Amino acid sequence: MSVIKGKVALITGGASGIGLEYARALLKKGLKGVVLVDVNSSFGEAAVTTLRKEFAPGKVLFHQADVTDKQSFEGAFQFAVQHYKHLDIVINNAGILNDKIWEKQVAINVNGVVIGSLLAMDYLPKYTNGDESFLINIASIVAIDPFICVPIYSGTKSFVIGFSRALGAEPHYQRSKVKVLTICPGVTDTPLINEMSGKNLGPDYEAVLIEEIPQFKKQPPEYVAKGLVDVLVKGTSGSVWVVEGKEPAVEIDFP
Ligand code: NAD
Repeated sequence: MSVIKGKVALITGGASGIGLEYARALLKKGLKGVVLVDVNSSFGEAAVTTLRKEFAPGKVLFHQADVTDKQSFEGAFQFAVQHYKHLDIVINNAGILNDKIWEKQVAINVNGVVIGSLLAMDYLPKYTNGDESFLINIASIVAIDPFICVPIYSGTKSFVIGFSRALGAEPHYQRSKVKVLTICPGVTDTPLINEMSGKNLGPDYEAVLIEEIPQFKKQPPEYVAKGLVDVLVKGTSGSVWVVEGKEPAVEIDFP
């Protein structure tokens, strides 16, 4: 039985990169509707226009919100349930990588995930249409294997792993049947990584990086999105998954 068909998803950072590709992958598998949540409204409107050419227009909505602001973020949850009458999948995907503004990285990658997870744990049990619902938090491969030196970013993503594992193991939340899953994408071809290599490291640095660090080779966002579908089907609450290249998602075995 499909875990995606007929469900409604809310995806933060859904206007770009991996988040947009998650929306497309879930819609292809029969999602009833998605709310793309993003702070950038021009990207959001453009993403909706693109997806509405591929899927029925009523299946794709955009809501502008800042994940670091609880009131603004909760507005997106209210918008989703008002429009679709239910909510079954929440993906905390919004994130940034820029070591020059570490406070902003912590605010978005840590605070944004905490706010979104607590809202999801409140809304999903009340508004899901089925027997179980899903909270998916997006960490990163560099939380596990720091092959590039981005310590604040790696630290924020390590937080996401620890926080999500604990939420997934919490008996109260297990009774509420919200499955909590963490995905660690490998390096992916999106504005986030391209801005890092273009602005912070210089234009030729990427080729040097790939030569010296094979893990730095970028995968298309479609691969990461395919991994999301694998994880939704196979993941148990609290589990953490690496998604890299064309291989199926691999579960991390913690001691
Ligand atoms: P991206 O820059 O393409 O997309 C991120 C989106 O988040 C943007 O649309 C941006 O406007 C939005 N956003 C930023 N701050 C926000 C806020 N305060 N409120 C709401 N939205 C906000 O980046 P991406 O590569 O698609 O990244 C998606 C997620 O995947 C991030 O959590 C990132 O850390 C993670 N990740 C990316 C890679 C990679 O190599 N690209 C690897 C591992 C993990």
